[in-house]
Amino acid sequence: MVHFVGAGSGAIDLITVRGARLLGKADVVIYAGSLVNPELLSYTKEGCEVYNSAKMTLEEVIEVIKEAESKHKTTVRLHTGDPSIYGAVREQFDALDCLGIKYDVCPGVSSFCGAASSLKAEYTLPDVSQTVIITRAEGRTPVPKKESIKSLSAHRATMVLFLSASLTEKLQKDLISGGYPEETPVAVVYKATWSDEKIYRTTVGRLHETVTQNGLKKTALVIVGDCMGEKYTRSLLYDPAFTTEFREGLI
Ligand code: SAH
Repeated sequence: MVHFVGAGSGAIDLITVRGARLLGKADVVIYAGSLVNPELLSYTKEGCEVYNSAKMTLEEVIEVIKEAESKHKTTVRLHTGDPSIYGAVREQFDALDCLGIKYDVCPGVSSFCGAASSLKAEYTLPDVSQTVIITRAEGRTPVPKKESIKSLSAHRATMVLFLSASLTEKLQKDLISGGYPEETPVAVVYKATWSDEKIYRTTVGRLHETVTQNGLKKTALVIVGDCMGEKYTRSLLYDPAFTTEFREGLI
């Protein structure tokens, strides 16, 4: 059996209870060493075999799993944040399906949620934005044309950019030409929820300058949108005059 487990965004107590239990039972752990906090390996039992997938190909990962399966061992494949976001898990699921190896998935706290907690932010503020766009700037990995930053910027929604800290020169231009005013607030969160986390508040017009001046190249999220600003209206849900299924409005 293989368990794909979301490690959470960094702090080791942000893994789920289920994820920690699965780690504790695993005979083999393959963790994404480029981003997963290695301190999470302290949850493993003695004698657990540990592999760092940062140095492995998909084929090598599958080979380790196959070998473990042949010995009836339990494997945990530990991915950073939540496995469903830029986790390269689908290709692993499909390879395991082909081999008839059983697996399941345990979710994790994605870094965009970890970052919101660090920022004490709400991405979906009434009258500001009710939409969160999760995307990335195009680098060596292509992004479908229909999802260009320029076209997504037209919505002026909350936008969370993964894998983009080294691409901010073009990103800034595309955000502006797409529709975000230069003064739109931006937060760059480096290593959200890790002990060396850093938060930088800037604007779309100063994004590239902020990122380069602070030497941010990886393990950072760029969060764009007016939800990072001051203005919003309060929710209807908790408005005394608003009737809901659970509460009669006053008026
Ligand atoms: N599955 C992960 C994302 C993996 S892609 C998740 O759900 O968070 C790797 C990218 O995620 C990094 O380049 C960075 O943009 C972002 N990232 C991962 N952990 C982060 C953290 N703790 N703080 C800020 N960004 C992080």
